Amino acid sequence: MRLLLVEDDQMIGGSMQHGLKNTGLAVDWVRDGKSAELALGNGVYDLMILDLGLPHKGGLELLTQLRQQGNDLPVLIVTARDTVEDKVAGLNIGADDYLVKPFDFNELNARVNAIMRRRSGRGNPVIVYGGLTLDPITHQSTLHGQPVGLSAKEFALLRALMAVPGAVLS
Ligand code: CA
Repeated sequence: MRLLLVEDDQMIGGSMQHGLKNTGLAVDWVRDGKSAELALGNGVYDLMILDLGLPHKGGLELLTQLRQQGNDLPVLIVTARDTVEDKVAGLNIGADDYLVKPFDFNELNARVNAIMRRRSGRGNPVIVYGGLTLDPITHQSTLHGQPVGLSAKEFALLRALMAVPGAVLS
């Protein structure tokens, strides 16, 4: 599996690349938005890990452009921007998940694996927690079998929370 890591911070990028390689993944690391654009044009990737604050072209702009081109490459945003608005914007634009710095590497690894599991079609794409279900494809949610009416923003938040059950998110 090949990952594109887009991160301009030398130390964070280095440790992420090192950790991900140790889990057996091939990792190409680029340090700005323009280089990411080029890499996406040439490379065949299974997942992109995307910082938002980047030189030359920001992460949200890059992601918007990618989705407008019809490219559905799985994207995990990893950024220091931790407001709910940023998360919702990222998820609404088409990110698969969102992780806030500083983070534990084990959590990064778990989220990467979860995205790949969902995308590979192995296992049910419907996320289940207790009596609550959430279908990321149809945007339907049920509680004990009864439909729950959620706004787009509520759905995005619930999805972010259910991706890491038990975790405390700001
Ligand atoms: Ca950055």
